Amino acid sequence: MERLPDALLLIDGEMRPAASGRTFDNLCPWTGEVVGQAADAGPEDVDAAIAAARRAFDETDWSRDHARRFEILSRYQALLHANREKLMTIARVEAGAALGAACLAHVDGALAALDALMGCFKEVVFEEDRGTIEMYGFKSRRLVVREAMGVAGAITPWNVPLYVNIEKVFCGLLAGCTMVLKPAPDTPYMASFMGQLALEAGIPPGVLNVIPSKDPAMAGEMLVTDPRVDLITFTGSTAVGKRIMEKGSATLKRVFLELGGKSANIILEDTPNFAEVVARGMVVMHAGQGCAMATRMLVPKSRYAEACAVLERAYAAFDANWGDFDNPQHVMGPVISKKQLERVKSYIDLGIQEGARLLHGGRVLERGGGFFIEPTCFVDVTNDMRIAREEIFGPVLCVIPFEDDEDAVRIANDSDYGLAGVVHSGDFQRAMAIARRIRAGAISVNGGVMITGDMPFGGYKQSGIGRAWGREGIEEFLEIKVIAYPER
Ligand code: NAD
Repeated sequence: MERLPDALLLIDGEMRPAASGRTFDNLCPWTGEVVGQAADAGPEDVDAAIAAARRAFDETDWSRDHARRFEILSRYQALLHANREKLMTIARVEAGAALGAACLAHVDGALAALDALMGCFKEVVFEEDRGTIEMYGFKSRRLVVREAMGVAGAITPWNVPLYVNIEKVFCGLLAGCTMVLKPAPDTPYMASFMGQLALEAGIPPGVLNVIPSKDPAMAGEMLVTDPRVDLITFTGSTAVGKRIMEKGSATLKRVFLELGGKSANIILEDTPNFAEVVARGMVVMHAGQGCAMATRMLVPKSRYAEACAVLERAYAAFDANWGDFDNPQHVMGPVISKKQLERVKSYIDLGIQEGARLLHGGRVLERGGGFFIEPTCFVDVTNDMRIAREEIFGPVLCVIPFEDDEDAVRIANDSDYGLAGVVHSGDFQRAMAIARRIRAGAISVNGGVMITGDMPFGGYKQSGIGRAWGREGIEEFLEIKVIAYPER
Protein backbone atom coordinates (compact mmCIF):
# COMPACT_ATOMS: atom_id res chain seq x y z
CA MET A 1 0.00 0.00 0.00
CA GLU A 2 1.15 3.52 -0.84
CA ARG A 3 2.71 5.37 2.09
CA LEU A 4 1.29 8.70 3.18
CA PRO A 5 3.47 11.65 4.23
CA ASP A 6 3.84 12.26 7.94
CA ALA A 7 0.94 14.11 9.54
CA LEU A 8 2.36 17.19 11.29
CA LEU A 9 0.63 19.58 13.66
CA LEU A 10 -0.35 23.07 12.51
CA ILE A 11 0.11 25.51 15.37
CA ASP A 12 0.31 29.29 15.01
CA GLY A 13 1.12 29.20 11.31
CA GLU A 14 3.77 26.50 11.50
CA MET A 15 3.65 22.83 10.46
CA ARG A 16 5.63 21.05 13.13
CA PRO A 17 6.12 17.83 15.10
CA ALA A 18 4.77 17.41 18.62
CA ALA A 19 6.75 19.23 21.30
CA SER A 20 7.54 15.84 22.86
CA GLY A 21 8.69 14.46 19.49
CA ARG A 22 6.22 11.59 19.91
CA THR A 23 4.45 10.09 16.91
CA PHE A 24 1.86 7.38 16.36
CA ASP A 25 1.13 4.90 13.56
CA ASN A 26 -1.30 5.72 10.80
CA LEU A 27 -2.87 2.38 9.81
CA CYS A 28 -4.41 1.43 6.47
CA PRO A 29 -7.80 -0.31 6.86
CA TRP A 30 -7.29 -2.27 3.60
CA THR A 31 -4.18 -4.09 4.86
CA GLY A 32 -3.72 -3.24 8.54
CA GLU A 33 -0.24 -1.93 7.58
CA VAL A 34 1.42 1.18 8.96
CA VAL A 35 1.26 3.70 6.09
CA GLY A 36 2.57 6.77 7.86
CA GLN A 37 3.37 8.50 11.09
CA ALA A 38 1.40 11.24 12.80
CA ALA A 39 2.68 13.79 15.27
CA ASP A 40 1.09 12.99 18.62
CA ALA A 41 -0.08 16.29 20.13
CA GLY A 42 0.42 16.33 23.89
CA PRO A 43 -1.09 18.72 26.44
CA GLU A 44 1.61 21.35 25.73
CA ASP A 45 0.71 21.33 22.02
CA VAL A 46 -3.03 21.57 22.72
CA ASP A 47 -2.32 24.49 25.03
CA ALA A 48 -0.20 26.21 22.36
CA ALA A 49 -2.91 25.68 19.73
CA ILE A 50 -5.60 27.19 21.98
CA ALA A 51 -3.33 30.13 22.85
CA ALA A 52 -2.62 30.78 19.16
CA ALA A 53 -6.31 30.68 18.24
CA ARG A 54 -7.16 32.98 21.16
CA ARG A 55 -4.50 35.50 20.16
CA ALA A 56 -5.56 35.41 16.49
CA PHE A 57 -9.14 36.08 17.53
CA ASP A 58 -8.47 38.78 20.12
CA GLU A 59 -5.59 40.64 18.47
CA THR A 60 -6.30 40.56 14.73
CA ASP A 61 -9.22 41.70 12.59
CA TRP A 62 -9.90 38.18 11.22
CA SER A 63 -13.41 38.16 12.67
CA ARG A 64 -14.30 41.66 11.45
CA ASP A 65 -12.87 41.85 7.92
CA HIS A 66 -15.52 39.80 6.11
CA ALA A 67 -14.28 40.55 2.59
CA ARG A 68 -10.65 39.58 3.27
CA ARG A 69 -11.75 36.43 5.06
CA PHE A 70 -13.91 35.38 2.14
CA GLU A 71 -11.07 36.04 -0.30
CA ILE A 72 -8.62 33.87 1.67
CA LEU A 73 -11.19 31.11 2.13
CA SER A 74 -11.95 31.19 -1.62
CA ARG A 75 -8.23 30.57 -2.26
CA TYR A 76 -8.37 27.71 0.23
CA GLN A 77 -11.42 26.29 -1.57
CA ALA A 78 -9.57 26.45 -4.91
CA LEU A 79 -6.51 24.72 -3.43
CA LEU A 80 -8.66 21.89 -2.09
CA HIS A 81 -10.09 21.40 -5.59
CA ALA A 82 -6.63 21.52 -7.13
CA ASN A 83 -5.50 18.76 -4.77
CA ARG A 84 -8.40 16.41 -5.54
CA GLU A 85 -6.12 13.52 -6.49
CA LYS A 86 -4.17 13.73 -3.23
CA LEU A 87 -7.40 13.95 -1.25
CA MET A 88 -8.65 10.83 -3.07
CA THR A 89 -5.50 8.95 -2.12
CA ILE A 90 -5.77 10.00 1.52
CA ALA A 91 -9.48 9.04 1.72
CA ARG A 92 -8.74 5.65 0.18
CA VAL A 93 -5.53 4.77 2.02
CA GLU A 94 -6.25 6.30 5.43
CA ALA A 95 -10.07 6.12 5.77
CA GLY A 96 -10.51 2.90 3.77
CA ALA A 97 -12.81 4.48 1.17
CA ALA A 98 -13.50 2.33 -1.90
CA LEU A 99 -12.81 4.23 -5.13
CA GLY A 100 -16.53 4.58 -5.93
CA ALA A 101 -17.21 5.94 -2.43
CA ALA A 102 -14.23 8.30 -2.65
CA CYS A 103 -15.80 9.81 -5.77
CA LEU A 104 -19.05 10.32 -3.85
CA ALA A 105 -19.26 11.74 -0.32
CA HIS A 106 -15.58 11.37 0.60
CA VAL A 107 -14.02 13.77 -1.90
CA ASP A 108 -16.17 14.90 -4.83
CA GLY A 109 -19.25 15.16 -2.61
CA ALA A 110 -17.25 17.06 0.01
CA LEU A 111 -15.86 19.50 -2.58
CA ALA A 112 -19.31 20.06 -4.11
CA ALA A 113 -20.71 20.65 -0.62
CA LEU A 114 -17.92 23.16 0.02
CA ASP A 115 -18.81 25.09 -3.14
CA ALA A 116 -22.46 25.19 -2.11
CA LEU A 117 -21.51 26.34 1.40
CA MET A 118 -19.27 29.14 0.09
CA GLY A 119 -22.29 30.32 -1.90
CA CYS A 120 -24.23 30.71 1.37
CA PHE A 121 -21.81 33.28 2.80
CA LYS A 122 -23.58 36.15 1.04
CA GLU A 123 -26.84 35.14 2.76
CA VAL A 124 -25.41 35.70 6.23
CA VAL A 125 -26.61 39.01 7.60
CA PHE A 126 -23.83 40.35 9.81
CA GLU A 127 -25.59 43.64 10.50
CA GLU A 128 -29.25 44.53 10.36
CA ASP A 129 -30.95 47.89 10.97
CA ARG A 130 -34.02 47.17 13.12
CA GLY A 131 -35.32 50.73 13.10
CA THR A 132 -36.22 53.13 15.88
CA ILE A 133 -38.39 52.89 18.95
CA GLU A 134 -39.59 55.66 21.20
CA MET A 135 -39.19 54.90 24.88
CA TYR A 136 -38.63 56.97 28.01
CA GLY A 137 -39.32 60.11 25.99
CA PHE A 138 -36.71 59.76 23.26
CA LYS A 139 -36.02 57.73 20.14
CA SER A 140 -33.42 54.97 19.92
CA ARG A 141 -32.09 53.46 16.73
CA ARG A 142 -31.22 49.76 17.04
CA LEU A 143 -28.87 47.47 15.15
CA VAL A 144 -28.66 43.71 15.38
CA VAL A 145 -25.03 42.74 14.86
CA ARG A 146 -23.96 39.13 14.37
CA GLU A 147 -20.36 38.51 15.24
CA ALA A 148 -18.10 35.51 15.55
CA MET A 149 -18.36 33.63 18.82
CA GLY A 150 -14.61 33.39 19.33
CA VAL A 151 -12.32 30.36 19.50
CA ALA A 152 -13.98 27.18 18.24
CA GLY A 153 -12.78 23.69 19.08
CA ALA A 154 -13.74 21.23 16.32
CA ILE A 155 -13.67 17.53 17.13
CA THR A 156 -14.21 15.21 14.17
CA PRO A 157 -14.72 11.48 13.46
CA TRP A 158 -12.96 9.13 11.04
CA ASN A 159 -15.78 8.01 8.76
CA VAL A 160 -15.78 10.80 6.15
CA PRO A 161 -12.92 12.97 7.42
CA LEU A 162 -12.65 15.45 4.55
CA TYR A 163 -16.41 16.04 4.50
CA VAL A 164 -16.74 16.68 8.23
CA ASN A 165 -13.48 18.64 8.53
CA ILE A 166 -14.54 20.92 5.66
CA GLU A 167 -17.93 21.49 7.23
CA LYS A 168 -16.50 22.54 10.58
CA VAL A 169 -13.48 24.49 9.37
CA PHE A 170 -15.33 26.43 6.67
CA CYS A 171 -18.51 27.14 8.67
CA GLY A 172 -16.39 28.36 11.59
CA LEU A 173 -13.90 30.39 9.56
CA LEU A 174 -16.60 31.94 7.34
CA ALA A 175 -18.32 33.10 10.53
CA GLY A 176 -15.03 34.68 11.67
CA CYS A 177 -14.08 32.29 14.45
CA THR A 178 -10.55 31.02 14.89
CA MET A 179 -10.23 27.28 15.24
CA VAL A 180 -8.49 24.29 16.71
CA LEU A 181 -9.28 21.13 14.72
CA LYS A 182 -8.82 17.82 16.49
CA PRO A 183 -9.30 14.89 14.09
CA ALA A 184 -9.95 11.27 15.08
CA PRO A 185 -6.73 9.30 15.73
CA ASP A 186 -7.65 6.96 12.84
CA THR A 187 -7.51 9.74 10.22
CA PRO A 188 -4.79 12.21 11.23
CA TYR A 189 -3.32 12.96 7.81
CA MET A 190 -6.49 14.28 6.16
CA ALA A 191 -6.70 17.01 8.81
CA SER A 192 -2.97 17.72 8.69
CA PHE A 193 -3.00 18.01 4.89
CA MET A 194 -5.95 20.39 5.15
CA GLY A 195 -3.85 22.44 7.57
CA GLN A 196 -0.99 22.56 5.08
CA LEU A 197 -3.32 23.77 2.30
CA ALA A 198 -4.75 26.41 4.64
CA LEU A 199 -1.23 27.79 5.13
CA GLU A 200 -0.64 27.79 1.37
CA ALA A 201 -3.91 29.69 0.95
CA GLY A 202 -2.62 32.41 3.26
CA ILE A 203 -4.70 31.76 6.36
CA PRO A 204 -3.05 33.94 9.01
CA PRO A 205 -1.10 32.32 11.88
CA GLY A 206 -3.32 31.03 14.68
CA VAL A 207 -6.57 31.26 12.71
CA LEU A 208 -6.58 27.51 12.02
CA ASN A 209 -4.66 25.02 14.16
CA VAL A 210 -4.67 21.25 13.67
CA ILE A 211 -3.75 18.81 16.42
CA PRO A 212 -3.89 15.07 15.69
CA SER A 213 -3.40 13.08 18.86
CA LYS A 214 -3.11 9.37 19.61
CA ASP A 215 -5.23 9.46 22.76
CA PRO A 216 -8.84 9.71 21.50
CA ALA A 217 -10.02 11.80 24.47
CA MET A 218 -7.19 13.94 25.95
CA ALA A 219 -6.98 16.78 23.40
CA GLY A 220 -10.76 16.92 22.96
CA GLU A 221 -11.34 17.11 26.70
CA MET A 222 -8.79 19.91 27.00
CA LEU A 223 -10.69 21.87 24.34
CA VAL A 224 -14.01 21.19 26.05
CA THR A 225 -12.85 22.34 29.49
CA ASP A 226 -10.53 25.24 28.59
CA PRO A 227 -12.12 28.65 29.33
CA ARG A 228 -10.25 30.21 26.38
CA VAL A 229 -12.37 28.11 24.00
CA ASP A 230 -15.81 29.63 23.37
CA LEU A 231 -17.57 26.82 21.59
CA ILE A 232 -17.23 23.19 20.64
CA THR A 233 -18.47 21.76 17.39
CA PHE A 234 -18.43 17.99 17.59
CA THR A 235 -19.31 15.18 15.21
CA GLY A 236 -19.16 11.68 16.56
CA SER A 237 -20.96 9.21 18.74
CA THR A 238 -23.87 10.09 20.99
CA ALA A 239 -22.01 8.72 24.03
CA VAL A 240 -19.07 11.11 23.56
CA GLY A 241 -21.47 13.94 22.65
CA LYS A 242 -23.19 13.58 26.03
CA ARG A 243 -19.86 13.65 27.82
CA ILE A 244 -18.85 16.81 25.95
CA MET A 245 -22.07 18.55 26.95
CA GLU A 246 -21.54 17.57 30.57
CA LYS A 247 -17.88 18.63 30.67
CA GLY A 248 -18.54 21.82 28.72
CA SER A 249 -21.13 22.97 31.23
CA ALA A 250 -18.45 24.12 33.71
CA THR A 251 -17.55 27.00 31.37
CA LEU A 252 -21.05 27.20 29.83
CA LYS A 253 -19.64 26.42 26.40
CA ARG A 254 -21.80 26.53 23.36
CA VAL A 255 -21.84 22.97 22.09
CA PHE A 256 -23.01 21.86 18.66
CA LEU A 257 -23.36 18.13 18.38
CA GLU A 258 -23.76 16.07 15.21
CA LEU A 259 -24.29 12.57 16.52
CA GLY A 260 -25.44 9.11 15.56
CA GLY A 261 -28.53 7.85 13.80
CA LYS A 262 -30.75 4.85 13.20
CA SER A 263 -32.75 6.18 10.30
CA ALA A 264 -35.75 4.48 8.74
CA ASN A 265 -36.33 3.78 5.05
CA ILE A 266 -40.12 3.44 4.64
CA ILE A 267 -41.05 1.71 1.40
CA LEU A 268 -44.83 1.82 0.91
CA GLU A 269 -46.64 -0.94 -0.97
CA ASP A 270 -47.51 1.35 -3.90
CA THR A 271 -43.88 2.26 -4.63
CA PRO A 272 -43.19 2.05 -8.37
CA ASN A 273 -40.13 -0.12 -9.11
CA PHE A 274 -40.61 -1.67 -5.67
CA ALA A 275 -37.86 -4.30 -6.22
CA GLU A 276 -35.33 -1.73 -7.40
CA VAL A 277 -36.04 0.59 -4.46
CA VAL A 278 -35.74 -2.30 -1.98
CA ALA A 279 -32.44 -3.43 -3.53
CA ARG A 280 -31.09 0.13 -3.37
CA GLY A 281 -31.75 0.07 0.38
CA MET A 282 -28.81 -2.25 1.05
CA VAL A 283 -26.48 -0.66 3.62
CA VAL A 284 -23.17 -1.02 1.82
CA MET A 285 -21.87 2.44 0.92
CA HIS A 286 -18.52 2.90 2.72
CA ALA A 287 -19.30 -0.30 4.64
CA GLY A 288 -22.25 1.37 6.34
CA GLN A 289 -20.05 3.91 8.14
CA GLY A 290 -22.31 6.89 7.58
CA CYS A 291 -24.39 8.62 10.20
CA ALA A 292 -27.43 9.35 8.00
CA MET A 293 -27.74 5.91 6.43
CA ALA A 294 -31.19 4.34 6.58
CA THR A 295 -30.24 1.23 8.52
CA ARG A 296 -33.81 0.21 9.36
CA MET A 297 -35.80 -0.77 6.27
CA LEU A 298 -39.55 -0.66 6.94
CA VAL A 299 -41.49 -2.87 4.53
CA PRO A 300 -45.28 -3.46 4.36
CA LYS A 301 -46.42 -6.88 5.58
CA SER A 302 -48.34 -7.29 2.31
CA ARG A 303 -45.06 -7.26 0.32
CA TYR A 304 -42.67 -8.47 3.00
CA ALA A 305 -41.84 -11.91 1.52
CA GLU A 306 -41.25 -10.29 -1.86
CA ALA A 307 -38.90 -7.69 -0.30
CA CYS A 308 -36.91 -10.43 1.49
CA ALA A 309 -36.52 -12.35 -1.78
CA VAL A 310 -35.36 -9.20 -3.57
CA LEU A 311 -32.79 -8.50 -0.84
CA GLU A 312 -31.53 -12.08 -0.90
CA ARG A 313 -30.81 -11.78 -4.63
CA ALA A 314 -29.42 -8.25 -4.38
CA TYR A 315 -26.97 -9.14 -1.61
CA ALA A 316 -25.86 -12.33 -3.42
CA ALA A 317 -25.15 -10.27 -6.54
CA PHE A 318 -23.36 -7.58 -4.52
CA ASP A 319 -20.88 -10.09 -3.06
CA ALA A 320 -18.79 -9.99 -6.23
CA ASN A 321 -18.85 -6.20 -6.32
CA TRP A 322 -17.07 -4.89 -3.29
CA GLY A 323 -13.71 -4.89 -1.56
CA ASP A 324 -11.36 -4.24 -4.49
CA PHE A 325 -9.08 -1.23 -3.87
CA ASP A 326 -8.77 -0.28 -7.54
CA ASN A 327 -12.26 -0.92 -8.87
CA PRO A 328 -14.02 2.40 -9.59
CA GLN A 329 -17.43 0.68 -9.41
CA HIS A 330 -16.90 -0.43 -5.82
CA VAL A 331 -18.44 1.66 -3.04
CA MET A 332 -17.60 -0.68 -0.16
CA GLY A 333 -14.21 -1.54 1.29
CA PRO A 334 -13.10 -2.40 4.82
CA VAL A 335 -14.27 -0.83 8.06
CA ILE A 336 -11.89 1.63 9.66
CA SER A 337 -10.18 -0.49 12.33
CA LYS A 338 -9.94 -3.81 14.11
CA LYS A 339 -11.89 -2.26 16.98
CA GLN A 340 -14.74 -1.29 14.66
CA LEU A 341 -14.65 -4.72 13.02
CA GLU A 342 -15.07 -6.36 16.42
CA ARG A 343 -17.86 -3.95 17.34
CA VAL A 344 -19.82 -4.67 14.16
CA LYS A 345 -19.29 -8.43 14.57
CA SER A 346 -20.54 -8.26 18.17
CA TYR A 347 -23.78 -6.63 16.93
CA ILE A 348 -24.20 -9.37 14.32
CA ASP A 349 -23.83 -12.02 17.04
CA LEU A 350 -26.29 -10.08 19.16
CA GLY A 351 -28.85 -9.96 16.33
CA ILE A 352 -28.71 -13.74 16.03
CA GLN A 353 -29.10 -14.12 19.81
CA GLU A 354 -32.06 -11.73 19.77
CA GLY A 355 -33.83 -13.95 17.23
CA ALA A 356 -33.52 -11.92 14.04
CA ARG A 357 -33.04 -14.01 10.88
CA LEU A 358 -29.67 -13.57 9.17
CA LEU A 359 -30.61 -13.34 5.51
CA HIS A 360 -27.11 -12.67 4.26
CA GLY A 361 -23.51 -12.14 5.35
CA GLY A 362 -22.36 -11.85 8.93
CA ARG A 363 -18.80 -13.13 8.62
CA VAL A 364 -15.48 -11.41 9.18
CA LEU A 365 -13.26 -12.07 6.16
CA GLU A 366 -9.53 -12.79 6.25
CA ARG A 367 -8.16 -10.69 3.41
CA GLY A 368 -4.52 -9.77 3.77
CA GLY A 369 -4.73 -8.17 7.20
CA GLY A 370 -7.52 -5.70 6.32
CA PHE A 371 -10.64 -5.06 8.34
CA PHE A 372 -13.31 -6.68 6.16
CA ILE A 373 -16.78 -7.79 7.15
CA GLU A 374 -19.47 -9.06 4.81
CA PRO A 375 -22.45 -6.95 3.79
CA THR A 376 -25.06 -8.21 6.24
CA CYS A 377 -28.85 -8.25 6.25
CA PHE A 378 -31.18 -9.21 9.09
CA VAL A 379 -34.89 -9.79 8.44
CA ASP A 380 -37.72 -10.52 10.90
CA VAL A 381 -36.33 -7.76 13.09
CA THR A 382 -38.59 -6.16 15.67
CA ASN A 383 -38.04 -2.57 16.65
CA ASP A 384 -37.38 -3.45 20.30
CA MET A 385 -34.26 -5.47 19.44
CA ARG A 386 -30.98 -3.78 20.24
CA ILE A 387 -29.84 -4.20 16.61
CA ALA A 388 -32.82 -2.00 15.66
CA ARG A 389 -32.25 0.55 18.40
CA GLU A 390 -28.48 1.04 18.57
CA GLU A 391 -26.18 2.45 15.94
CA ILE A 392 -23.97 -0.32 14.53
CA PHE A 393 -21.97 1.84 12.09
CA GLY A 394 -21.18 -1.08 9.79
CA PRO A 395 -22.68 -2.77 6.71
CA VAL A 396 -25.72 -4.12 8.53
CA LEU A 397 -29.34 -3.63 7.45
CA CYS A 398 -32.33 -4.49 9.67
CA VAL A 399 -35.62 -5.18 7.89
CA ILE A 400 -38.80 -4.58 9.92
CA PRO A 401 -42.37 -5.29 8.71
CA PHE A 402 -45.21 -2.78 9.26
CA GLU A 403 -49.03 -2.89 9.02
CA ASP A 404 -50.02 0.49 7.58
CA ASP A 405 -48.84 4.11 7.29
CA GLU A 406 -49.66 4.82 10.92
CA ASP A 407 -47.60 1.83 12.04
CA ALA A 408 -44.70 2.83 9.76
CA VAL A 409 -44.60 6.34 11.29
CA ARG A 410 -44.81 4.88 14.79
CA ILE A 411 -41.87 2.51 14.18
CA ALA A 412 -39.78 5.18 12.43
CA ASN A 413 -40.26 7.54 15.38
CA ASP A 414 -39.79 4.86 18.04
CA SER A 415 -36.06 5.58 18.27
CA ASP A 416 -33.75 7.58 20.51
CA TYR A 417 -32.30 9.00 17.30
CA GLY A 418 -33.73 11.41 14.74
CA LEU A 419 -31.08 12.21 12.17
CA ALA A 420 -32.65 11.34 8.80
CA GLY A 421 -35.25 9.26 7.03
CA VAL A 422 -36.43 8.05 3.65
CA VAL A 423 -39.96 7.57 2.30
CA HIS A 424 -40.99 5.94 -0.99
CA SER A 425 -44.50 5.86 -2.44
CA GLY A 426 -46.26 6.14 -5.79
CA ASP A 427 -48.53 8.70 -4.13
CA PHE A 428 -46.51 11.87 -3.61
CA GLN A 429 -48.97 13.44 -1.14
CA ARG A 430 -49.02 10.28 0.95
CA ALA A 431 -45.22 10.20 1.05
CA MET A 432 -45.08 13.90 1.98
CA ALA A 433 -47.60 13.41 4.79
CA ILE A 434 -45.36 10.71 6.27
CA ALA A 435 -42.21 12.80 5.73
CA ARG A 436 -43.78 15.63 7.75
CA ARG A 437 -44.50 13.30 10.65
CA ILE A 438 -41.04 11.76 10.98
CA ARG A 439 -39.12 13.34 13.84
CA ALA A 440 -35.75 13.75 12.10
CA GLY A 441 -33.59 16.49 10.62
CA ALA A 442 -33.58 15.43 6.94
CA ILE A 443 -36.02 13.32 4.95
CA SER A 444 -35.65 12.09 1.38
CA VAL A 445 -38.94 11.57 -0.47
CA ASN A 446 -38.83 9.26 -3.51
CA GLY A 447 -35.06 9.59 -3.85
CA GLY A 448 -34.65 13.36 -3.34
CA VAL A 449 -31.10 14.39 -2.31
CA MET A 450 -31.48 15.58 1.29
CA ILE A 451 -27.85 16.29 2.20
CA THR A 452 -26.08 19.08 0.31
CA GLY A 453 -23.70 21.83 1.38
CA ASP A 454 -26.25 24.63 1.08
CA MET A 455 -28.86 22.99 3.32
CA PRO A 456 -28.84 22.70 7.11
CA PHE A 457 -28.02 19.22 8.41
CA GLY A 458 -28.47 17.93 11.93
CA GLY A 459 -30.51 15.81 14.23
CA TYR A 460 -33.62 15.73 16.40
CA LYS A 461 -33.58 13.94 19.76
CA GLN A 462 -30.30 12.19 20.59
CA SER A 463 -28.92 12.74 17.08
CA GLY A 464 -27.66 16.13 18.09
CA ILE A 465 -28.04 19.82 18.75
CA GLY A 466 -27.65 22.53 16.14
CA ARG A 467 -27.16 22.43 12.40
CA ALA A 468 -24.14 22.04 10.15
CA TRP A 469 -23.77 23.32 6.56
CA GLY A 470 -25.75 26.01 4.81
CA ARG A 471 -26.43 29.50 6.14
CA GLU A 472 -27.67 27.94 9.37
CA GLY A 473 -24.36 26.10 9.77
CA ILE A 474 -22.39 29.36 9.56
CA GLU A 475 -24.82 31.10 11.92
CA GLU A 476 -24.16 28.45 14.60
CA PHE A 477 -20.77 30.16 15.04
CA LEU A 478 -22.24 33.66 15.53
CA GLU A 479 -23.30 35.56 18.64
CA ILE A 480 -26.03 38.18 18.45
CA LYS A 481 -25.44 41.70 19.76
CA VAL A 482 -27.83 44.65 19.91
CA ILE A 483 -26.38 48.18 19.60
CA ALA A 484 -28.72 51.09 20.31
CA TYR A 485 -28.10 54.85 20.06
CA PRO A 486 -30.28 57.95 20.40
CA GLU A 487 -31.73 59.25 17.17
CA ARG A 488 -32.40 62.90 16.78
P1 NAD B 1 -16.33 9.03 18.60
O1 NAD B 1 -17.43 9.70 19.32
O2 NAD B 1 -15.69 7.86 19.22
O3 NAD B 1 -15.16 10.06 18.30
C1 NAD B 1 -15.37 11.27 17.62
C2 NAD B 1 -14.26 12.22 17.98
O4 NAD B 1 -14.33 12.51 19.37
C3 NAD B 1 -12.86 11.70 17.72
O5 NAD B 1 -12.05 12.77 17.28
C4 NAD B 1 -12.42 11.24 19.10
O6 NAD B 1 -11.01 11.22 19.24
C5 NAD B 1 -13.05 12.30 19.98
N1 NAD B 1 -13.28 11.91 21.38
C6 NAD B 1 -13.40 10.66 21.90
N2 NAD B 1 -13.61 10.74 23.23
C7 NAD B 1 -13.66 12.05 23.56
C8 NAD B 1 -13.87 12.76 24.76
N3 NAD B 1 -14.09 12.14 25.92
N4 NAD B 1 -13.86 14.12 24.73
C9 NAD B 1 -13.66 14.78 23.57
N5 NAD B 1 -13.45 14.15 22.39
C10 NAD B 1 -13.44 12.81 22.38
O7 NAD B 1 -16.92 8.68 17.16
P2 NAD B 1 -16.20 7.94 15.97
O8 NAD B 1 -16.16 6.49 16.32
O9 NAD B 1 -14.94 8.64 15.61
O10 NAD B 1 -17.24 8.21 14.76
C11 NAD B 1 -18.39 7.47 14.60
C12 NAD B 1 -19.60 8.19 15.16
O11 NAD B 1 -19.72 9.47 14.56
C13 NAD B 1 -20.90 7.50 14.85
O12 NAD B 1 -21.70 7.46 16.01
C14 NAD B 1 -21.55 8.37 13.80
O13 NAD B 1 -22.94 8.33 13.74
C15 NAD B 1 -21.07 9.71 14.18
N6 NAD B 1 -21.14 10.62 13.03
C16 NAD B 1 -22.14 11.56 13.01
C17 NAD B 1 -22.25 12.43 11.93
C18 NAD B 1 -23.34 13.46 11.90
O14 NAD B 1 -23.19 14.42 11.17
N7 NAD B 1 -24.39 13.33 12.66
C19 NAD B 1 -21.33 12.37 10.89
C20 NAD B 1 -20.33 11.42 10.94
C21 NAD B 1 -20.24 10.55 12.03
